[in-house]
Amino acid sequence: MKSDVTYDLLIIGGGISACVFASKYLKNNITKKIALIEIGRGLGGRSSTRISKRFKGWKLNHGSPNLNITNSNNNPLLKSYIDELIDNKFIKIDDSEIFFLNEDSNLEIIKKSEFSCGVNYISLDSMSELSKKIIDSNNLKEKIDFFFETLIVDMKFNDKEWLLTSKNGDKFKSKYLICSTNLLLHKRSLKILNLNQIPLRKAIPINNDKKIDLLLNFLEAQTFIPRLTFLIHTNENYSYKDYYSKKQRYFILKNNLEKKYRFERIIFQRQDNHKLGIVVHSKNVELINSYISAKDEEVFKQKIITNFNKLFEENSVVHKLTFDEKISIMKWRASQPSGIAVPLSLQFSGKYRIGFCGDWFEGEGFGRIEGSILSALILENKIKDLIK
Ligand SMILES: Cc1cc2nc3c(=O)[nH]c(=O)nc-3n(C[C@H](O)[C@H](O)[C@H](O)COP(=O)(O)OP(=O)(O)OC[C@H]3O[C@@H](n4cnc5c(N)ncnc54)[C@H](O)[C@@H]3O)c2cc1C
Repeated sequence: MKSDVTYDLLIIGGGISACVFASKYLKNNITKKIALIEIGRGLGGRSSTRISKRFKGWKLNHGSPNLNITNSNNNPLLKSYIDELIDNKFIKIDDSEIFFLNEDSNLEIIKKSEFSCGVNYISLDSMSELSKKIIDSNNLKEKIDFFFETLIVDMKFNDKEWLLTSKNGDKFKSKYLICSTNLLLHKRSLKILNLNQIPLRKAIPINNDKKIDLLLNFLEAQTFIPRLTFLIHTNENYSYKDYYSKKQRYFILKNNLEKKYRFERIIFQRQDNHKLGIVVHSKNVELINSYISAKDEEVFKQKIITNFNKLFEENSVVHKLTFDEKISIMKWRASQPSGIAVPLSLQFSGKYRIGFCGDWFEGEGFGRIEGSILSALILENKIKDLIK
């Protein structure tokens, strides 16, 4: 047994939605004992930063590089929370350049895409730091027990408490449970965790709670966009052709170019040591498959550089790469939910003392940080009076 404590509340996942939920919840319930369990080494989830041991001094945002808030419904909860993040100096307006690359690789500065519509914000530090700062605000960090590198594979509910089991056999007990990830609720868990039943379905059999049945039905139809990200560590002297001093610079490929080069977005990220990191995103299925089947990863990486150089051949601001850059590759099996979103009305079951948040809920922020934050705020608002 990892811990004999029965927590008031356990949170599975340490992405931005979990951090927002935990910080808001604790602010209103300072005496509660809560724990957060995350399989990764730190906070941030899909909006985190690679700080590798191999490449000292490099910090590359390898998932979401920034956040964009549309909030066209003018949701006051979201608005005041974003204002709070700005006032705390956790985020600021992201006025980095965004280039849309069209067929002729000409540059067009138009700010419109799924990831750039609305107001764009950038973390004052890295993306992982943003999640850390959110949880650390109001000195709440000490109030939470963190269990990193811990993968929950089984969940049970026995009338009044939840019992979670990790892959290593550690047990965790709590009165209430929050799932900020839907892995344990979705059929992809069967393959990923090598199980024969979806863990939440096993914990709450069919016909016991209409809300849970509906939630699982919606998720049955939810799909995910896989992505590859290439983290390119450029050489000492690599720079832009022009003078550009801001932290990030984005190049977004329009559909026809995305098909041709198999890249979706390229984000240049200036490092503290003034070197330039380049993160290339791809959701091209052929490229992902050719990575999976590649016999020689080095040859595959060289092809990525060739592609990059072709794309930027006549570009006025980007230099070609030299082929001796170091590249690490991150494979996102489920980078973003897609298709069916889950209704917010299914976020909490009082009978089973379980709540859910994350970017997989309905709303214009579906599949983005905006949706993650808003779902966490709404969940916290719904349950703050219920969990006594
Ligand atoms: C490559 C990429 C680019 C993106 N670009 C953008 C962008 O430009 N703008 C934007 O708004 N959004 C973008 N997104 C989406 C954005 O990153 C997500 O919407 C957001 O980070 C989701 O946060 P979350 O807290 O809901 O979920 P997550 O960050 O996924 O948090 C869930 C956490 O739960 C953990 N976990 C899962 N299962 C278990 C388990 N069984 N036991 C323990 N821990 C578990 C996971 O490790 C994860 O850390 C991008 C995503 C990716 C991957």
